[in-house]
Amino acid sequence: MDFIPPVAPFVIADLVVDQLNHAYIRCDGDGQILTINPAAERLLGIAAEDWNGSPINWLIESLVTDMYCPSRASAVYLEAVGWAHGVTAHKLPARHSSGKALELVMHTYHTGTADSPATTFILERVEQRLEHPAERETTLPRFQTLTRLAPVGILELDDQWQCLYANDKWCELSRLGRDESLQTGWVDALHRDDVNETLIALHDAIGRGLTFEREVRLQTPLGQITWISISATGLLGSHGRVSGILIVASDITERYRANEQLRIIAHRDALTGLYNRTVFLDRLATALESAVSPVEVALLFLDLDGFKAVNDTLGHHAGDALLRQVADRLREIAQPGDTVARLGGDEFTVILSRRFARDSAERVAKHIVQRLKEVYQIEGQQVFISCSLGIALGGQGKDDDDKLVQRADIALYRAKHSGRARYVFFSPELDRARRDHSILVSRLQYALESDEFDVMYQPQVDIASGAVIGLEALLRWPQAPRQDIGPGEFIPALEDAGLIGPVGTWVLRRACNDYRRFREAGVINANTSLSVNVSARQVGIDTFLSEVEEILESEQMPAERLVIELTESVLVSTFESGVIEQLKTLGVSISIDDFGTGFSSLAYLGKLPVDELKIDQSFIRDLHARPQAKSIIEGIVALAQSLGLHVVAEGVEDGSVLPMLSECGCTTYQGYYFAPPMLRDRVLEFDKSLVVEAAASPDCEQADRKPVQI
Ligand SMILES: [Mg+2]
Repeated sequence: MDFIPPVAPFVIADLVVDQLNHAYIRCDGDGQILTINPAAERLLGIAAEDWNGSPINWLIESLVTDMYCPSRASAVYLEAVGWAHGVTAHKLPARHSSGKALELVMHTYHTGTADSPATTFILERVEQRLEHPAERETTLPRFQTLTRLAPVGILELDDQWQCLYANDKWCELSRLGRDESLQTGWVDALHRDDVNETLIALHDAIGRGLTFEREVRLQTPLGQITWISISATGLLGSHGRVSGILIVASDITERYRANEQLRIIAHRDALTGLYNRTVFLDRLATALESAVSPVEVALLFLDLDGFKAVNDTLGHHAGDALLRQVADRLREIAQPGDTVARLGGDEFTVILSRRFARDSAERVAKHIVQRLKEVYQIEGQQVFISCSLGIALGGQGKDDDDKLVQRADIALYRAKHSGRARYVFFSPELDRARRDHSILVSRLQYALESDEFDVMYQPQVDIASGAVIGLEALLRWPQAPRQDIGPGEFIPALEDAGLIGPVGTWVLRRACNDYRRFREAGVINANTSLSVNVSARQVGIDTFLSEVEEILESEQMPAERLVIELTESVLVSTFESGVIEQLKTLGVSISIDDFGTGFSSLAYLGKLPVDELKIDQSFIRDLHARPQAKSIIEGIVALAQSLGLHVVAEGVEDGSVLPMLSECGCTTYQGYYFAPPMLRDRVLEFDKSLVVEAAASPDCEQADRKPVQI
């Protein structure tokens, strides 16, 4: 058998078109002429070899009779080729190379593929247009041969929208046989949701002499969807009336799916599948624009309390799993029309629209706070976490989206700083408080640079002997812009300003330095301890341990006399990191500050490497008023003793509680009754007998001890 070499479809097409009676010109995607058939040579009086490889618009310019306006030729070209994306037909006043005027109609077909774009022009003289059925019969086979090879679906309709011809590619795309496509059968291929709209728009465009373009779905009876891009143009009869329609359809399913994938990626949070920030902002703007009442839209802004600890202790994998479960619970709570989004990290938002009332927002917020508090099962472990939530209401003509987000954020901040696991509505007072806080945060940097901070010392006293056995160093800001700014306000602000690290280091260094001076002055003895408060953020700083070590060495501070005071929550959250163990290795003692106010105390207490408990002053204050307070203190002291821990009662303002503390087994106290916090110079004036002598005679009567007068 003879071997027949494979022939490229376009080569076959060129062989066929050489035989056509129609003038045929084919170009590549850049408009360079690839083929001019003999009919075109005859019609225009040109030689193909002179024009092959030339730009098509040069040829059009040479044909267009209106040579006084070359831009018209370019406009014809651009409209026909580049920018119309489909089949167009143009009447073209032109001329033969001999100078004879010609009235041409130029049909433009996009016949290439996405990888290899091509454009085909069919030119015919108006007076030669084929209207006679007999002529049509002779040209149809040629047309069909040409279109059979085209990589796009082609339909020819008559002026009654009856399909006269469908090529192979159309049959492949529509899954209809050729006969099934004829007459009105081609409409069955359109997705039934798209049919009416598509046909109306097509009718409208053709009626107005425009090219119709649209992306539509084809659907097989089994439901398989193909996306196509269709271009349709009217075929003009001899009197300029539409005598038929030519439809070209390209398969864009893959491109559509890729775009759809991109759209999903662009709009969804990859971890949780919730909407992302872009969609959230868009939906919020839309909700506010379409609101018809002033408090119609509620924005709930929430984040998880202590999420970082989950990541730190269980790993990021568990953290991600937790975020997914939180997202599921928010989805459950959301109603149709609500928008739930994850903005990043552990920040989520919910937009409630058309709920019309503060009460409804409050109900949803309460539900979310409750539901998110329920136990999570993460990788075989139970995880408990809560969320804080800020709510801002907005609506018609009142707020823009930025303002609403800012307000919800302010409310969230307040929820966090009011004890977490709660929701807070935005109010103007919160805004004022936030502004004050911002001013405070910006002022603190200056305070640090200008040496405005100071350290005060409050003695810790042995109840039995009245001896000062320790000093707690307390950060103070004497030059604070307002007198009422106390440590409770400016220390969180230092954390927010990212200054707790440098300020905390400064306090430790200064306190150790002062401790040496006190020793040299003889106002404390070798056994006196020095307690320094350290915040969660400070413990989390990488250089924390090395700084403690360096300060101990450079200030010649005996490590065994230094007590680091941490709150319960800091101890629990940093337990896994090993920092506490390493502090202990340095010889430093650990004290749990404000004991009894946390929520995880007893379960963890036995595991934590601590040396001391400081009973929170709230229990001491209640000692006379509430019998339970005494029982609690007794319980804490008994627990501490069983674990070998030293106990200090904080906030003793009234000497009458001391016998009760002694009865409870508590041996040490601290408070205004003995002395308020004092500046360094005041400590240096300290009555040495209170330390040295009292320490030397531990049996001295409590009645002999006198409070220090400041
Ligand atoms: Mg403290």
